[in-house]
Amino acid sequence: MENCIFCKIINREMPSDIIYENEQVIAFKDIHPKAEVHVLIVPKKHRANLNEIDDNEKELLAAIFLAAKQIAQQLNLGAQGYKLVLNVGRGAGQVIDHLHLHLLSGTYNRPLNEI
Ligand code: AMP
Ligand code: ZN
Repeated sequence: MENCIFCKIINREMPSDIIYENEQVIAFKDIHPKAEVHVLIVPKKHRANLNEIDDNEKELLAAIFLAAKQIAQQLNLGAQGYKLVLNVGRGAGQVIDHLHLHLLSGTYNRPLNEI
């Protein structure tokens, strides 16, 4: 998708701090972290948000959630746990129109409704 920041990160046309990747998903550190640990988990297939996911694309959703579990293990978050946030639409605070799951853990420097 042209002019999509996250597609550019996926295609290595823009730098980012990638911490996890598999066939369907990429994950990188949020550039403005709202918590001690703040990672964005992004499907490689461009979809603006959850409302654009068809019933036959369930695998894409499974992939981002299972990637979250893998990343949490990789970052040793077992004891402190983590939260997953998925904003859908401007009213909910979504500013990047490429579906992404926020993985947050540790001390927060923003209230949850500002993530
Ligand atoms: P949302 O508000 O749910 O759309 O979240 C978008 C997130 O993307 C915000 O937390 C931003 O800080 C983050 N972000 C924006 N541009 C970049 C970038 N180039 N690299 C990493 N994170 C970014
Ligand atoms: Zn995109």
